[in-house]
Amino acid sequence: MDKRVAIVTGASRGIGRAIAKRLAKDGRHVVAVARNEEQLKSLAAEIAADGGSCDFRTCDLADGAAVQRLVEEVAEKHGRLDILVNNAGITKDGLLMRMSDQDFDDVLNVNLRSVFIACRAAARPMLRGKFGRVVNIGSVSGVEGNKGQANYSAAKAGLIGLTKSVAKELGAKGVTANVVAPGFVETDMTSFLGPEDKKKVSEHITVGRLGVPEDIAAAVSYLAADDAGYITGQVLVVDGGLPM
Ligand code: NAP
Repeated sequence: MDKRVAIVTGASRGIGRAIAKRLAKDGRHVVAVARNEEQLKSLAAEIAADGGSCDFRTCDLADGAAVQRLVEEVAEKHGRLDILVNNAGITKDGLLMRMSDQDFDDVLNVNLRSVFIACRAAARPMLRGKFGRVVNIGSVSGVEGNKGQANYSAAKAGLIGLTKSVAKELGAKGVTANVVAPGFVETDMTSFLGPEDKKKVSEHITVGRLGVPEDIAAAVSYLAADDAGYITGQVLVVDGGLPM
């Protein structure tokens, strides 16, 4: 494979789908990962119709052994692994006093443990290639905390510590690791917001609107670029100026 190979998790819809399309447009070969095969198929077809290069793998990221296998097999099949975008994420919101152990564990498992396993598996092929770009999708909730999201905020905050550690361990070998932390983005994850809620939220956002998946994809494209090698261990908040 001549092109740089990029794994994008959670690529079936939402932000991950936009990231996959953007990286393909940037000339990467994208390996799109999620559970929904039909949606991944349609993504691969859209990218191919646009002249890009993409294949896909179904994987339940809650299964750590499957994540390890997935990354190893992709690196082996293509003879390289250059970019890893850990985007997949879930929410199981609830107030602290009502949150079950299971809901805490489920969110930590998909949003943090799978990222650790993917980074660990990606380290070898990236070190071999003397190049790597790890981009982990966090959240403003991981930076600020959020009511009703003790599990999600803990996972996303943990992602920052994990990413900075990966950056420090692999930085001297050409591998960077950064977090992109979105604010409110219009996807299935925020579909519980009705038009009135969206209007209210927008009033608190400096640029006056919710984000779209392409806003996040642009930041990932920037951090995954060949010439972004001097940016590592950073948290790039992409929230339209939410707290200003
Ligand atoms: P989304 O529309 O709900 O999409 C989630 C993606 O993750 C889907 O592609 C889903 O694919 C995949 N996924 C979920 N569980 C999985 C599992 N067990 N195994 C494999 N894939 C799994 O969410 P989104 O809004 O695009 O969010 C993407 C990332 O951005 C997440 O990490 C999220 O925490 C973060 N984020 C989003 C917002 C926002 O406002 N939307 C804000 C801050 C941060 P399948 O269902 O096909 O498996």
